[in-house]
Amino acid sequence: MAHRSGRHFLQIPGPTNVPDRILKAIDAATIDHRGPDFARMTREILDGLKPIFKTSGPVVIYPASGTGAWEAALVNALSPGDRVLMYETGQFAVLWRGLAQRLGFEVDFLPGDWRRGADPDAIEERLAGDAGHRIKAVCVVHNETSTGVTSRVADIRRAIDRADHPALFMVDTISSLACIDYRHDEWGVDVTVAGSQKGLMLPPGLSFNAIGTKALEASRTAASPKSYWDWEGMRDANENGFFPYTPATNLLYGLKESISMLEEEGLDNVFSRHARLAGATRRAVAAWGLEMRALDPREYSNSLTAVMMPDGHDADAFRRVVLERFDMSLGNGLGKVAGRLFRIGHLGDFNDLMLAATLAGIEMGLGLAGVPHEKGGVDAAMDYLAKGDAGEAGEAARASA
Ligand SMILES: *Cc1c(COP(=O)(O)O)cnc(C)c1O
Repeated sequence: MAHRSGRHFLQIPGPTNVPDRILKAIDAATIDHRGPDFARMTREILDGLKPIFKTSGPVVIYPASGTGAWEAALVNALSPGDRVLMYETGQFAVLWRGLAQRLGFEVDFLPGDWRRGADPDAIEERLAGDAGHRIKAVCVVHNETSTGVTSRVADIRRAIDRADHPALFMVDTISSLACIDYRHDEWGVDVTVAGSQKGLMLPPGLSFNAIGTKALEASRTAASPKSYWDWEGMRDANENGFFPYTPATNLLYGLKESISMLEEEGLDNVFSRHARLAGATRRAVAAWGLEMRALDPREYSNSLTAVMMPDGHDADAFRRVVLERFDMSLGNGLGKVAGRLFRIGHLGDFNDLMLAATLAGIEMGLGLAGVPHEKGGVDAAMDYLAKGDAGEAGEAARASA
């Protein structure tokens, strides 16, 4: 491959651009993972993660992709044959369902159109109809990365409470944590699933479970076979700053740096930055005359925007032009929307000028690929960005409503 000058634009919705500070932190000698320095670092990291999940409970870290943390949540809290209620928000919900089925759980899959978030009313109705409490867990993807739709987790919690149902509540925040406000404790989530390679700005390879009291209790009697994912062994070792097996030491160096960066910026500022960049992106898409996959403004994602292609135009052909001409990767359509949409990742270590360049690459690419559109998307985004926080105040207020 020939050298291309300048930085590649990695505008897929994860893995995201890894900032230099984190790359430098990872680039250090691997230390003894049973030594005192390591134990100190582990404790610091485990404490530092809590405010990011907004929990006072334990968070465990696996050397695994996000998929591992999906599996860990289910096998620790449930028993074989348990029924779980899942909601079809898009491809990631479909994948989580497949994993649950292969593990031997019975999945009730509420159908969705891949344009909206999980519907609290539909969940309430299904739970209210489950008089025998056969459903043991409700599993929802907070930010559906295949469609750019963010489900209203607090409203879903209220729906579960209205149905007066004891099911555990499990939420996938792999593409929302440290991008979009999320509150494990306040929203009564029992298990939160997260990953390293999106809002946390790390390379892929770490994933997380934040564990509530009710889930911990359930895990004491849950009968699913597990070993690598076992919360108990993990928590016992974590007590002393260690892990039950060799951890991903260098990624943990990166995680420590990521936590520092999020602390320095302040989580609320991180959320409003994501809201501003997303708001600017949506204005560009509107000016191009293209359609977003997300339909409900209450559910627009601040992590990514999925853009529908006009009929008869292939999203992957367009993405190829952008990659070849401008050295920028955009997200592809996943599962049943393959070829029909492209996704703009605007999450993680990202700022106004990076977004302006991203949108410029898209606008030029649309022209070169012969995709019908109006000009002026970049201008609309710049007008919005120039307003700074004033422009974004409305978006932020919506995001935390
Ligand atoms: C990226 C992503 C996953 C998958 O994570 P892996 O690290 O690829 O296993 C799951 N859910 C959501 C919402 C995601 O964005």
